[in-house]
Amino acid sequence: MNRIHLSRRFSQILFILLIFLIPVFDIFRIDSGTGSLIVLGNEWSIGLKEGFYLDPSLNNAAHVAWRFFLKAILPWIAVLAVFPVLGALFGRFFCGWFCPEGALFELFDFLTLKIFGRRSLFSKSANDPECRAEKRLPYILLTLLSVVIIPLVTGIALTGYFVAPKVIWSQILNWEFTFGVKAGIIGVSIYVLVSSLIVRHTLCKYVCSAGLMQMLFGWVSLASLRIKFDTARMAECTDCKGCEKVCFMNVRPRLPRRDINCVNCGECIEACNRELGEGRGLFSFHKPKISLPASEGEMDKSARGCNGHERLERRLT
Ligand code: SF4
Ligand code: SF4
Repeated sequence: MNRIHLSRRFSQILFILLIFLIPVFDIFRIDSGTGSLIVLGNEWSIGLKEGFYLDPSLNNAAHVAWRFFLKAILPWIAVLAVFPVLGALFGRFFCGWFCPEGALFELFDFLTLKIFGRRSLFSKSANDPECRAEKRLPYILLTLLSVVIIPLVTGIALTGYFVAPKVIWSQILNWEFTFGVKAGIIGVSIYVLVSSLIVRHTLCKYVCSAGLMQMLFGWVSLASLRIKFDTARMAECTDCKGCEKVCFMNVRPRLPRRDINCVNCGECIEACNRELGEGRGLFSFHKPKISLPASEGEMDKSARGCNGHERLERRLT
């Protein structure tokens, strides 16, 4: 039973639903008609008009400045801090378990694999799983449906962050579009189509700012979640390469040096459990504890661990 895999698909689907439903329920969206920000069903007002312009006294200015800090600056600080904090605590866990784009790229990896026998449209990579390209018709049909429906639905849903979803749907039903709605749907659809057919995880590695922030803060943090390979039981490794073949980020998780592209998806944990038996796999999630300086004995032990790491790196490269 692929517990991690199923939980990951469940969390990805839930997060996609959340992203789609946020503007529908006025939880957060911009109303381009009135130029206002809607948060939890109410217009988000900084209160400058009713505050400062109605009473421009010095006393009131301090009150308005405080309000401005609370309602305009603080929320932005909180929003900007989300990914650095997530990265420092969990590495790129968000990318592997929640990111809607990551989920979409994985879907297209799967379809390309089933049709062409490799993950990428363009070339085979060393860690592509073996997949005999047979019974391709259902996957070709599924791909055709996906390249039409997914970009369009995403375009409609994301345009809802700028134009009220009710307005968008009434325009769709009457087949009469304003320029903003048309541009939003077409623009997002093209982006989704190109990124999921051509760019995929290259975008996660080099372009996505949320991913880069998690990567950077996860890298410098001493306490971020990571995948640990049990070097003490290295001899049990059958070199089946299952852990590498499931890795859509092209990470080689047995290597001791930490790869900043790992999204903590946990697929390598399951691959190794499949090979060596449930609970016997060599990988696990690991959350390092920040500890005090080591004693001499511990330093000896850690030096021995380093030698083991070096031996492993030599063996795998
Ligand atoms: S190394 Fe493992 S956890 Fe990291 S991205 Fe690859 S499969 Fe996922
Ligand atoms: S899946 Fe496990 S047994 Fe297979 S190569 Fe990776 S670490 Fe070794």
